[in-house]
Amino acid sequence: MPIFNYSAGPSMLPHEVMQNVQKELLSYEGSGVSIVEMSHRSTAFQSIVDSLEARLRRLMDIPETYAVLFLQGGATLQFSMVPMNLRETSRFAYVDTGIWSKKAMTDARCFGEVAIIQPTDDLDGMSFSTDGLHDVDYVHLTLNNTIEGTRFTAIPETEVPIVADASSNILAEPIDVSRFGLIYAGAQKNIGPSGLTVVIVRRDLVQSLHLPSYLSYHNQMDTLLNTPSTFSMYVAERVLKWVEEAGGVEAMERMNVQKRDLIYGYFETSALFKPLVTGEKRSLTNIPFTTGSEETDQRFLEFAREQGLIELGGHRSVGGLRASLYNAMPLEGATRLIEVMRQFEEGHDVSH
Ligand code: PMP
Repeated sequence: MPIFNYSAGPSMLPHEVMQNVQKELLSYEGSGVSIVEMSHRSTAFQSIVDSLEARLRRLMDIPETYAVLFLQGGATLQFSMVPMNLRETSRFAYVDTGIWSKKAMTDARCFGEVAIIQPTDDLDGMSFSTDGLHDVDYVHLTLNNTIEGTRFTAIPETEVPIVADASSNILAEPIDVSRFGLIYAGAQKNIGPSGLTVVIVRRDLVQSLHLPSYLSYHNQMDTLLNTPSTFSMYVAERVLKWVEEAGGVEAMERMNVQKRDLIYGYFETSALFKPLVTGEKRSLTNIPFTTGSEETDQRFLEFAREQGLIELGGHRSVGGLRASLYNAMPLEGATRLIEVMRQFEEGHDVSH
């Protein structure tokens, strides 16, 4: 039975990439040495790093005025590295769009004062007002809210740099890098295995500060400061090759829109399953939904699991149901989910 994995992260990776990783696990490109046994200072590994960076720059059209850093510690470490490195006045603004943005502001409070901005939010989309947005070192946005299933649809011009957590939408939809001071993302949704975090930062924002060596962007620019997550970087390079060959970020976005619209289209016809998000701000990658009953949600989770559809539970903080369909999820992942929801609904008496 084929398994469809709707995990919010770590998530499924392209099947053909996984097959190739398996094939060359014991001997990287015929060298007789596994990638996991190889020095991060070797020529072979350096060429992986160079290719990974080049592919990411091409896919996201990253200007030369930005550095690309490959770090560890997840997006969570960036919750503190960002304020630590970008602070000048030690006043920061955070747009509050959900659980991950709240976690980011909690860590920022260790380094200064946080002004909370509420998003503007209606059926036409989600954005924020720039009123009062000055005298801060930056404004922080979570571009796609993995748990709530919402996303920013418009980003206004600001006087201050915009910092974006793009963990769940990087490479899933185009991001105009030149609009941002810094973009960070954990790799484990659209890029590769966990253990790798990508940071894209405008070079002129990076200062040489007295910080522990690993925590300073300045020390991490254009060099491998210490042993990186070599295996994750290797797989990421292969995933980015797959994205490029599949037509790049625009092609990913087209597929993601198609998958999302199919599933939301089904909700319109269903008497049982209801979406939790309406309007343009619906995420392309994370779809939270429910039957309205905790018990029925649980029964659906079991039913789906029996059909090979796994990881459809909502985040542990909110419950309900959630389908995450990142780049590696084929269109069949959307049609199969609809089929299984329909089967469940047919066997379920909705009048009770
Ligand atoms: N930000 C967002 C938007 C996320 O979805 C996640 C993880 N799901 C995180 C931050 C935390 O990432 P990590 O586990 O890599 O620290």
